[in-house]
Amino acid sequence: MSDPTPAPKTPHPTPAAGMGALVSSLKHVVQNRGVVRNLRSLFRVNQPDGFDCPGCAWPEPKDTSRVGEYCENGVKAVTFETTAKRVTPDFFARHTVGWLRGQTHHWLENQGRLTHPMRYNRVADRYEPVSWEEALALIGMTLRALDDPNQALFYTSGRTSNEAAFLYQLLARRFGTNNLPDCSNMCHESSGTALTEQIGVGKGTVTLEDFDHADAIFVIGQNPGTNHPRMLSELQRAAERGAKIVTFNPLREPGLVSFTHPKHPLRTLLGRGTAISTHYYQVLIGGDLAALTGLCKHLLEMEAADSGKVLDRPFIDAHTDGFDAFAAQVAAADWPTIERESGLTRDQLLEAAEVYRTAKGVIACWAMGLTQHKHAVATIQMVVNLLLLRGNVGKPGAGACPVRGHSNVQGDRTMGINERPPQAFLDGLKSAFGFDPPRHHGHDVVGAINAMADGSASVFIGMGGNFAAATPDTEFTEAALQKCALTVHVSTKLNRSHLCPGRDALILPCLGRSERDVQATGPQRVTVEDSMSMVHASVGSNPPASEHLLSEVAIVCGIAEATLPDGDIDWAEFRTDYRRIREKITATLPHLFADYETKVDHRGGFYLGNPAHDRTWKTATGKARFLAHPIHPHVLPPGQLRLMTVRSHDQYNTTVYDLHDRYRGVHGTRMVVFLHPADLAARGLNDGDAIDLHSHTPEDGLTRTARGFRAVAYDIPPGCAAAYFPETNGLVSKDSFAHRSRTPLSKFIPITVTPAAGG
Ligand code: SF4
Repeated sequence: MSDPTPAPKTPHPTPAAGMGALVSSLKHVVQNRGVVRNLRSLFRVNQPDGFDCPGCAWPEPKDTSRVGEYCENGVKAVTFETTAKRVTPDFFARHTVGWLRGQTHHWLENQGRLTHPMRYNRVADRYEPVSWEEALALIGMTLRALDDPNQALFYTSGRTSNEAAFLYQLLARRFGTNNLPDCSNMCHESSGTALTEQIGVGKGTVTLEDFDHADAIFVIGQNPGTNHPRMLSELQRAAERGAKIVTFNPLREPGLVSFTHPKHPLRTLLGRGTAISTHYYQVLIGGDLAALTGLCKHLLEMEAADSGKVLDRPFIDAHTDGFDAFAAQVAAADWPTIERESGLTRDQLLEAAEVYRTAKGVIACWAMGLTQHKHAVATIQMVVNLLLLRGNVGKPGAGACPVRGHSNVQGDRTMGINERPPQAFLDGLKSAFGFDPPRHHGHDVVGAINAMADGSASVFIGMGGNFAAATPDTEFTEAALQKCALTVHVSTKLNRSHLCPGRDALILPCLGRSERDVQATGPQRVTVEDSMSMVHASVGSNPPASEHLLSEVAIVCGIAEATLPDGDIDWAEFRTDYRRIREKITATLPHLFADYETKVDHRGGFYLGNPAHDRTWKTATGKARFLAHPIHPHVLPPGQLRLMTVRSHDQYNTTVYDLHDRYRGVHGTRMVVFLHPADLAARGLNDGDAIDLHSHTPEDGLTRTARGFRAVAYDIPPGCAAAYFPETNGLVSKDSFAHRSRTPLSKFIPITVTPAAGG
């Protein structure tokens, strides 16, 4: 007889950040060794004349006199890069790839900065030093030997600067392919697809200043406390001036409950926090479309009862189309379905709708909790439908705010890192360089995995990132990588992808953001774009971690010169002076980057602009579009739960800084699954029991198993579960992806839970 169902664990009694953030930050400054270098770097991160935090893409405030403009996870991201730990040729001489494959993501990433270019020796199963010349020549020779340029894949992680990303896409396209999969395929691709169709631009419409004017901020499927921590400062300021913060999230995330800004010493000492969410709804995993439909239904019913008093009719009439079909769709949705599918009551949704109705300006923020679902595009379009009802796009204090997870993922897309490039971009490239780039669409991340597996692609080049850990279907993806003739990873740290070498493999160590990038014409700066379309400079000042590192730009130019030796592009000029790259960016995108160099000189950078922010709708109809979407019921076989993968608080994307998640009360381990006590009891399990997870993928009918977890009784809706990635990415099928955006379904994995095999 199992023990009576214990009360769900309250994750974190005290406010988020505060003293805990200070202690944790100090710990990472020390444990990453090189304390002086780490501290000096923290004085320069996110400063107007400093370097951009290699963490998330939350913008910097315009106030250029800011000090300590970083969060706890920014400290982890920076000190992880500025660490004094090194992974040298000796390290690789001591460890075979086979042995390294037995180590955890945390162990691998904590070994330090790569110092030398390394080539895989298959016979010895070790990486061995190689010269840059040999490495670049090998890449050039292998690429030139391909029958078809589409046998090559050029993957990008969102840390790549604008300049390196622009040259990388130029290299791929001059070589003849659009195979430019990137990390946004796995994160905000659904946002880009939804927004482009609905408002004419695939980016958020708000600026940071809008947070000062919003009366209500809806935070949907996002955990800013861990993933965009400086956003909490904006939410705190908004809450303190009386704005309503309305949260939809299956988990009760401490950062969205209460927050103490570490810069407020007295509050920090006293542990006094600001209540953040005025309304917190623990929606079912996958229940957001139904919840949003419920909000819209209430508003339409209010309007019907009090015509002209609820909806912004003048805006709807002047700026939108599709309203009637949308309203009919919402009217057809019945409350029992809305309540069942959202896990929320009609009254709860009425409460939230009231907040929306009474607010003059509303911002809606979201992240992976919306984008990694089968109907993600429809759900995000329902967010925008909600905003359009009261004209909450293109006015102060209002708008759409998909918050990007990687520091320059939005910039990379602007630079042309896109397997489905807009024709206008390709036309711009043609006029800037005089060649006709390939026009057929290339492989996204899922396409790249399949192409390596079926052998139609045999060269994988990764510009940053950790492809093997970030992608779904881990076992399948790792095997696909190892089928390649050549895998190349441009990296700062050792990671799992390096341990899935192709028949030949290279690790190319690059400069970090915090490091000086000196080329023939002197120190260079790069530029990045944040979630709110602000472009600014990033200039490193630390001495490189090793004299053998090259900049991302220099590496791309080196690969290009080796691959396109008789080319018509002067890669050496780009390497020598990054202003030449920006000139070509301006030539390719004149409507966005005119006077690029001058604008970058402005302290804090410049705003790229956003037509929807100015109520100019570059959609197929020239209007902002109401788009009707039915609720898609989630029917799981008995005994199955819906699992979502999440980050711990000591993690950034696939980078595992440490083994704690103090916001959820987990310490020293990552092998945990958060489950509702009733679901544990129903399976004869208890808090702390050893369990295995089995996913059941409708798309391919396969069952995948992940072993060795502990059950954690937690405050999560019954029927739902959460666990960390990358440890559970192996449960996600590569064939399970969102409609239209093809984003892997990491937030809705049908699973069963059993006692651990072997007890
Ligand atoms: S909020 Fe994001 S960008 Fe800002 S310091 Fe933290 S991790 Fe870095």
